[in-house]
Amino acid sequence: MPVVPILLSALAMAAIVAVRYLLASGGFALATRLRHRGLYTGLDPQIRREIAWSLASAAIYGLPAGVIAWGWQNRGWTRIYSDIHAFPLWYWPLSVLLYLIAHDTWFYWTHRWMHRPRVFRVAHAVHHASRPPTAWAAMAFHPVEALTGAVAIPLLVFVIPIHVGALALVLTMMTVMGVTNHMGWEVFPRFMWGGIMGRWLITASHHQRHHERYGCNYGLYFRFWDRLCGTDEGLGDFARAHAQAGRRGGDGGRRDAAGGGGAGRGA
Ligand SMILES: [Zn+2]
Ligand SMILES: [Zn+2]
Repeated sequence: MPVVPILLSALAMAAIVAVRYLLASGGFALATRLRHRGLYTGLDPQIRREIAWSLASAAIYGLPAGVIAWGWQNRGWTRIYSDIHAFPLWYWPLSVLLYLIAHDTWFYWTHRWMHRPRVFRVAHAVHHASRPPTAWAAMAFHPVEALTGAVAIPLLVFVIPIHVGALALVLTMMTVMGVTNHMGWEVFPRFMWGGIMGRWLITASHHQRHHERYGCNYGLYFRFWDRLCGTDEGLGDFARAHAQAGRRGGDGGRRDAAGGGGAGRGA
């Protein structure tokens, strides 16, 4: 095994994941500042902790991914394919859905496990120390939690065939949902979280309630497991959080309190 190229690939991937985090979280934090001024006022010490934990997580996510990327390029590891015609075209969207369902299932059950009191104190309290979470909390995990997240996609690429472009889409969705679910307001149109689609899809208002109440709403992308297991407690209400932000941040935040109250209606 050529150790140096493998190590370089692992380090490069860790750097890519870190930069991806900084760009995605930084972008949505900027959008938050423009749309809901004052929402993160007074949270600077928490945001610094969120960034530090997230960069450590980026290394944990990047290292195994980098090793596998090297093996894919040089040894034919994994079932990632680059010729789009290697499988029927209808398989392309299906593979994306399969990855999201598998990842969601893994996330739901490991997340429930991490809410057992002893595991919570060790592995998951770091993530819940963000009260309320911000766009920077997307990867704010203790290394144990980061490890449970970091193995999911690297294991799946050995099992379920996926086109390299479809994999890129899965990773992009993972990144965007990780950031937007924590940023304290809904960036998506109402039909995605308020209507029939919202009964099955997870966006910010669903995960917000997990951060408010802890023992519910464990899912990542879909509400399927939460509904099936009776752990779904509907959507969180941003009005209160925004009103608090308003008190912290002045009139900009208070104006938002009036506009941000819709999320609770679907509960
Ligand atoms: Zn969270
Ligand atoms: Zn949790």
